[in-house]
Amino acid sequence: MFTAMQSLGLLAMTAEASPLPQLPANYGSGKKVVILGAGIAGLVSGYELRKAGFECIVLEARERPGGRSWTVRNGSKVEFTDGTTQTCDWEGENYLNPGPARLPSIHKTILGYCEELSVPLEVEINTSRSTLMQSKDLNGGKPVEQRQVVNDTRGWISELLAKCIDQHGLDQALSKEDTEKMLAFLQTYGDLDRDYKFKGSERSGVDIGPGAGPDEEKLRPPLKLHELLVADFSMGELYEEQLDWQATMFQPVGGMDRIPYALAKSLGPIVRYGSPVQQMRKTEKGVTIVYTDSASKGPQTIQADYCICTLPITILDTLDTDFSPAKKQAFKGIKVASLYKIGWESPRFWEKKYNIYGGISFTKQTVGLVWYPSWKLFSKTGVILSGFDFEQQDWGNGAPTDFGALSTEGKLAASRAAVETLHPGYGQLLAKPIYVSWQKIPYSLGCFALNGFPGTRPAYEELSKPEGRYFIAGDYVSHLAGWQEGAALSAHRAVRDIAAHMQNS
Ligand SMILES: Cc1cc2nc3c(=O)[nH]c(=O)nc-3n(C[C@H](O)[C@H](O)[C@H](O)COP(=O)(O)OP(=O)(O)OC[C@H]3O[C@@H](n4cnc5c(N)ncnc54)[C@H](O)[C@@H]3O)c2cc1C
Repeated sequence: MFTAMQSLGLLAMTAEASPLPQLPANYGSGKKVVILGAGIAGLVSGYELRKAGFECIVLEARERPGGRSWTVRNGSKVEFTDGTTQTCDWEGENYLNPGPARLPSIHKTILGYCEELSVPLEVEINTSRSTLMQSKDLNGGKPVEQRQVVNDTRGWISELLAKCIDQHGLDQALSKEDTEKMLAFLQTYGDLDRDYKFKGSERSGVDIGPGAGPDEEKLRPPLKLHELLVADFSMGELYEEQLDWQATMFQPVGGMDRIPYALAKSLGPIVRYGSPVQQMRKTEKGVTIVYTDSASKGPQTIQADYCICTLPITILDTLDTDFSPAKKQAFKGIKVASLYKIGWESPRFWEKKYNIYGGISFTKQTVGLVWYPSWKLFSKTGVILSGFDFEQQDWGNGAPTDFGALSTEGKLAASRAAVETLHPGYGQLLAKPIYVSWQKIPYSLGCFALNGFPGTRPAYEELSKPEGRYFIAGDYVSHLAGWQEGAALSAHRAVRDIAAHMQNS
């Protein structure tokens, strides 16, 4: 789905240059900024404003920093808006990142904060040729390795193109010299024989591996072209081609929340947890924010010169604010994605029995994606993710998907079934599931705003505009919605806009 959206241009893909101005260390002295939300956008805003001498206060509804940048591990609670609660009791350092799980190497801003704050990173293995692809239409329904699908598809396409050239089908398009070069290229590209026929390739894996003495390698027969076309694994095959998913990708050692925790630590007590914002008002020379303080249990008021608001649009839409009617309309003007993730603790059978170390397998089932951990390879147990997709059609607000229509038990059964289909006999090893449905997570009420969708441009532009002394930040006012890089860049932009406001007033 992600791939489809990106190929349609519905999710922007490239990192942008930061708009952060170089401000002197006393630029903000005497000015107070109240920041709403301690997700990446709020924390980065506070971090940068403090460097420039501003007094800051960050109000956060949850009892932890990070917002969607969250890691579930032993002791974590997953609470839904309907009152259901799951408590994680995985062993040791096992964890699930229900939200962000990977950092592209081109996302320089967020990686820059990891470096600045000494957050240790490791490689996140996003694709592995040993992972599996399964469809009832391919190989009699038996899973095949990704290397087979990729290389056999390439082999067949190369053979067809060579045939087309041989039958003079491309004479108009290719000069004689280019024809020869193209045939030579196809021979290498598709691993064709000297007659430009694809007869299988070692690249696709072997039935029997090479050994000592007389034990020769035995190649696998190629998958059938017709079956490959019907099964259509283009999403899995091209997964790594998306710019933001290309190797090398990273992850913080121990879980994604290491980034917000490092930012929050540097901010210290200016971050007030358990402090949900209730009301926002503009005043003649600033802003007044009313919030509930879980310690004192009563409403509290803060006055400040400026407000950076990083609350999700799903939340802003429900709050008592004096944003203009145009902004209020814009809160409803962008769909919010309805993604979920399910993680299970399990012995690492995928490593021992299948040679799979990280990467993603695909199956054409209700739950279609199984993602293997990249951390602590070769250890006893790990967290395998089975299910990361939409719960509602139309990416968000539509009718339930097949998965979304199931009961919670049905969802967990579908998740287990995907693993069982890919790894027969091993589904039963999955234990202690954690299911995170982003639409039901309080203070998020959704996954991320789909701000590249057709028709969303006016709302996007409206939300990006400062309003008096309100400045909105958050990944949804960047062209990298759904990425922490976008949240950080939006914070830089808000800092820039406040600096500009001060200069002009
Ligand atoms: C399933 C999923 C997968 C993702 N994958 C990736 C990935 O692989 N890599 C990547 O970089 N990014 C990924 N992202 C995107 C990433 O999580 C976001 O871009 C980023 O975390 C957004 O930060 P933010 O500060 O804009 O918003 P948020 O994190 O939503 O922060 C908003 C904050 O406001 C707080 N809040 C809400 N209501 C109130 C209130 N009334 N009062 C006070 N505080 C309130 C919330 O608690 C929260 O802390 C993914 C997200 C999801 C959900």
